[in-house]
Amino acid sequence: MRFTRLKLTGFKSFVDPTDLIIAEGLTGVVGPNGCGKSNLLEALRWVMGETRAKAMRGSGMEDVIFAGASSRPARNFAEVALIIDNADRLAPAGFNDADSLEIVRRITRDVGSAYKANSKDVRARDVQMLFADASTGAHSPSLVRQGQISELINAKPTARRRILEEAAGISGLYQRRHEAELKLRGTETNLTRVDDVLEQLG
Ligand code: ATP
Repeated sequence: MRFTRLKLTGFKSFVDPTDLIIAEGLTGVVGPNGCGKSNLLEALRWVMGETRAKAMRGSGMEDVIFAGASSRPARNFAEVALIIDNADRLAPAGFNDADSLEIVRRITRDVGSAYKANSKDVRARDVQMLFADASTGAHSPSLVRQGQISELINAKPTARRRILEEAAGISGLYQRRHEAELKLRGTETNLTRVDDVLEQLG
């Protein structure tokens, strides 16, 4: 899956609509301190389904919405769209069967986040799984935050293992296993209840 464009509106310092073309090969983002370079990477992580406000350097998820400046009022929503080249049809069948896939996440104050894939409503989980399976997800080791390298050096072996699993593209499988185990436990509880009822009837 190759990312081809990133569009931002009202996201952190990107209050005006911003359209970033991601050309083939290496892309460098340069600019003075505080101009928003890290905000761009955070936008990428956020549209892929990041749920931890801390990873967005905020205390709540609504902190990603433009908070206002001396000359401009705060915004009520933030939106990030990621356009992916899907010519090789690597996106799962549930998404779409077109040459390009557009994933949009929008957060509105007091309402929360909503996701769309090529204009159709989708669940956060579907978007998270799409990127986790492609090893590019919100927790992907290919997105390196400031300070992350020293965290990695000091990390416990279990935390390091999670990073390797994410890189290997199997973290989506763990999530599915967890969900399957929860379902299994629910079914076991239901069966016990059925046994109780049968006993009472018998
Ligand atoms: P550095 O090189 O110092 O790491 P950077 O180019 O990576 O800087 P960022 O950290 O991405 O810059 O951007 C920080 C800027 O974004 C700050 O000016 C901050 O005020 C602004 N900012 C962050 N969140 C919001 C928000 N919700 N509303 C408005 N501006 C915001």
